[in-house]
Amino acid sequence: MKFHWLRFLDWLKISSVPDALAIAQHDELQRQIPMLYAVLSVNAVAVAATHFHVAPLYMTLWIPLVLVTMSIVRAIAWRFRPRMNVNGAGAIRMLRRTTLLAAFIAFAYVSWSLALYSFAQDEQRAHVALFIATTVIGCIACLTYLPQAAMLVTVIVMVPYLSYQLSMGGPIYTAIAFNILLVLIMLIRVLLNNYHGFQKLVEARIESERLHEEVTHLANTDTLTGLPNRRYFFAKSTALMERCAHDGTPLVFGTIDLDRFKAANDTFGHALCDTLLAAVAERLCEALGEDAMIARLGGDEFAFVLQTDLHSAQRMAQAACRKIGQAFFLGDTRITVGASCGLAICGDEHADIVSLYDQADYALYYAKNHERGSSITYSAELDQTMRFERQLETALQNADYEAEFDIVLQPIVRLSDFHVIGGETLARWNSPTLGPVEPAVFIPVAERLGLINRLSLVLLGKMLRALGQMPRNVVLGFNLSAYDLASEETVAAIVDSIRGSGADASRIVLELTETAMLRDLDLARSAMEEFHALGARIALDDFGTGQSSLSYLHKLPIDVVKLDRSFIVESRIKRSRDLLQAVITLCRTMGLPCVAEGVEETEQLNMLRVMGCDNIQGHLFSAPMTVEQFEAMVKQASDPSASVA
Ligand code: C2E
Ligand code: CA
Ligand code: CA
Repeated sequence: MKFHWLRFLDWLKISSVPDALAIAQHDELQRQIPMLYAVLSVNAVAVAATHFHVAPLYMTLWIPLVLVTMSIVRAIAWRFRPRMNVNGAGAIRMLRRTTLLAAFIAFAYVSWSLALYSFAQDEQRAHVALFIATTVIGCIACLTYLPQAAMLVTVIVMVPYLSYQLSMGGPIYTAIAFNILLVLIMLIRVLLNNYHGFQKLVEARIESERLHEEVTHLANTDTLTGLPNRRYFFAKSTALMERCAHDGTPLVFGTIDLDRFKAANDTFGHALCDTLLAAVAERLCEALGEDAMIARLGGDEFAFVLQTDLHSAQRMAQAACRKIGQAFFLGDTRITVGASCGLAICGDEHADIVSLYDQADYALYYAKNHERGSSITYSAELDQTMRFERQLETALQNADYEAEFDIVLQPIVRLSDFHVIGGETLARWNSPTLGPVEPAVFIPVAERLGLINRLSLVLLGKMLRALGQMPRNVVLGFNLSAYDLASEETVAAIVDSIRGSGADASRIVLELTETAMLRDLDLARSAMEEFHALGARIALDDFGTGQSSLSYLHKLPIDVVKLDRSFIVESRIKRSRDLLQAVITLCRTMGLPCVAEGVEETEQLNMLRVMGCDNIQGHLFSAPMTVEQFEAMVKQASDPSASVA
């Protein structure tokens, strides 16, 4: 095998040592070098003592004192060096410095020993030879993990020592010197073998650490998006929470759920939607920034932790929802999904990750139901609202509709003669657990829970029974939900119910809101046609709210327009008044009777009369009343001997 000088020099300079190996060497040396200095010091003191009477004081006291002091200082420095702070580069620097220092100290000791030689007698010379031999052997043993230094020390000590013996000493000491050299060469060989084994061991450790890291990474990563997975997320956020609680820095926890993802999955297939999820993850990372910890918890559910104040977190979350809501272009396919987000702030140090997650999830649930596509922050008030909503949901799910629900009727009055032409049926719920609940509260919940169809049919039954009790000229309005129109079975059941009651359908006005009609125009139109075929009429309810596109008045078979209360409330403002006038005129020209809702004041009534409005409904005339009260009122009114006004 050829000896490469350049490579040897490279090795001697400790220039190509991997970081982990250098750190391992450093750690081992830290344990052994103090021992090395101890051996050196003890041996030096011993030699100085045996030469005390034969050599001058500077040789036996001052020089050894300097050498020993230096050794002790170095030993202490090594012993108390902080272990944790060493990195690869630092360790390499340390190894180089140690090698140089070892060379220097070896040189100092050997110079001193050889200088002592000239003063020594035979026995003392033997001691010096022994001193040199044991010291070098000790050094080599302690420098096992720094072979460069071990070699340098051997060369620096042995070359002058041998040369000195060859030139000055007798045959015995020369023989001793050669013996020592032989042992040292063998020791260096053994040391190199050991070091090689050590190197292999460290390499194996590095490899196993790498494998461990890889396995850990795989176990903590969601393969679809490359984001951390649920396991990692919860472990990491627990640690983050503890740190932030300790430092008093804010921490906001968020959950994000995609809207309409299931529909996208059904339409576009799993493969494409996997790509979609990866694209969503990308946008999420862009919106939340590098400092956020973002994870995919499963399905279309993501979560994140932001180490910012609530205000910035809300801004970022809102931006994320907006960003995800923009269309995705995956190949030739354009997919739009939305995202809703729930946020929870980690306020107190006793909070745990599970309850924080629940809060964010709670807020997300609220966002999904009330403000889809936006971000909602959990708060005590929200908690109360949602608690109430849950109670409401439970009560509504377990309600006995026939027994707990009732209807009231609010009169509708003709403006020309104040004659009660009919009334609007309004639902009332008297829950045994919650007490009276407003329809504006329970109708949306019933719609959300899919209970509205059944409820509508029960209320319709009650309305039809009431209608049967009323004089034949009384017309009753009945509110239908958008969900009623969307369900063909419900529409059929409504038709059957009206037909089965034997009521004259022309005395029924079905009130539908614009949003109900817009939800699915074709379905709405076919339902309206069925109602028309029965003879019932259709009112466009809450006209003036929503988009109020006048074009629907032409497009859909509408018979009556109900002007929303907000129209009347805002009629103080000239522009609103002009608009109201325009709508009333439009209705008249189209031959559509209109009903103004929520009339509370005489001025409003007078204004509406001047504008040419046909009918009014509102507290000015009467609040909703029981069926019995309504019946008594209309019966009295139709009695020719009485007057309503
Ligand atoms: P809506 O159809 O616009 O009903 C009119 C609402 O205005 C009623 O509230 C009525 O009591 C109220 N109102 C009448 N006159 C005045 C007034 O002068 N001032 C004020 N401030 N309010 C007045 P209610 O009974 O609480 O019903 C609220 C909404 O709940 C209804 O609005 C309707 O959208 C829905 N709703 C009520 N009953 C039913 C039902 O049986 N089925 C369905 N699907 N929805 C219903
Ligand atoms: Ca209505
Ligand atoms: Ca209305």
